[in-house]
Amino acid sequence: MIIVKNVYLNGQTVDVLIKGNRFEKIGTGIKEDEAQVMDASGKAILPTFCNMHTHASMMFLRGVGEDLALFDWLQKEIWPREAKLTPEAIYYFSKFAILEMIRTGTTAFLDMYFYPEASIKAVDEMGVRSVLTYCGMDNFDEAKTKKEIENAEKFLSLKMPSQKVQKGLSCHAVYTVSEKLIKTFKQMARDEGLLFNMHLSETKKEVEDCLAKYGKRPGKLLSDWNVLDEKTILAHSVHLDDEEIRLIKKAKSVVVNNPISNLKLNSGQMPLQRYSDEGLRVTLGTDGVASNNNLSMIDEMKVAALSAKSKADDCLAAKVGSIFEVATANGFEALGINAGKIKEGYLADFMLVDLNNFALIPCENLISNMVYAADSSCIKDVFCDGKCLMKNGHINGEEEIIRDFKRACKELH
Ligand SMILES: [Zn+2]
Repeated sequence: MIIVKNVYLNGQTVDVLIKGNRFEKIGTGIKEDEAQVMDASGKAILPTFCNMHTHASMMFLRGVGEDLALFDWLQKEIWPREAKLTPEAIYYFSKFAILEMIRTGTTAFLDMYFYPEASIKAVDEMGVRSVLTYCGMDNFDEAKTKKEIENAEKFLSLKMPSQKVQKGLSCHAVYTVSEKLIKTFKQMARDEGLLFNMHLSETKKEVEDCLAKYGKRPGKLLSDWNVLDEKTILAHSVHLDDEEIRLIKKAKSVVVNNPISNLKLNSGQMPLQRYSDEGLRVTLGTDGVASNNNLSMIDEMKVAALSAKSKADDCLAAKVGSIFEVATANGFEALGINAGKIKEGYLADFMLVDLNNFALIPCENLISNMVYAADSSCIKDVFCDGKCLMKNGHINGEEEIIRDFKRACKELH
């Protein structure tokens, strides 16, 4: 049991009692003989972030192949380097990625990358939550389709170390994956009640190529292939037409806004306000660092708000409260995790921010400060599932994780 004493929450100073992995009680003057007391005077409590689309281990590609269009960037710079990856490297890259996530206030992420089995140990050791997905990409080669299905079966048979680490399946995109593999992976995920993840309509070229090949747009294609339901997560979803918005809404699928990656690769801007108004389940993600170039959900919120206002041509679009919710509660809800709010009964995933940090002064509107003014230096403590992962800016084992990461990068290049 932990009591977080004298902490700022929604304009009041309160105590927060955490019992096991949940918020047990929020009020004033809370006393529990057994509890460990943590004085949080001068700090505010906020929910942590849920990064709904990333490729965590891409950390080794930070700053690689700048200033290229998506297809050139993938073919010339990213895919050749990724071909050299090993499970051991993925383990070290995942740990380093999670280190950055914890520092920037993220305790849950949905990942799509190679050798997800090697990330399981990293996620477990770092103490965060993740849905790790095996990502299929067959490039329309039947022999590869078969191999990918075998690999996915193998991945799904693995035992996870705790409730915090979950499995799922991904297909890269409609321009790299066959109809057979997309349908098979979705069915495999559906049979086991797991999430299914894809990149969708990231660029206009993807939509044009899909129209030329299949005679329909990517969102409509997935709907016709029976891929859309409430456990399908669609990263990017930048270029959807009215019919696709209607189909995704009806299926209750989740869309993920990745505004920094989209702006950097000039893929377009998601009409976030319109999607929210239409009732889509909108969440937020950083994408991999190769196209971002960090995993900070604080940065992502700011750009999401600005991008949405620009796209809507309306300064009233993407209000601060709704952007903060998109980055926190909406993501946890999409992953089926009862976190993302500082509320009795919710899982104790939270951060304490320093109200004396210059970016949070004056504190007229803390959420506005977090969206538009803050950086990760505001975050002092991070908890996941009731356990402390960062205490007063200190994370256990940080130096070793950085050293191992640098060594693994050297060995790969
Ligand atoms: Zn991506």
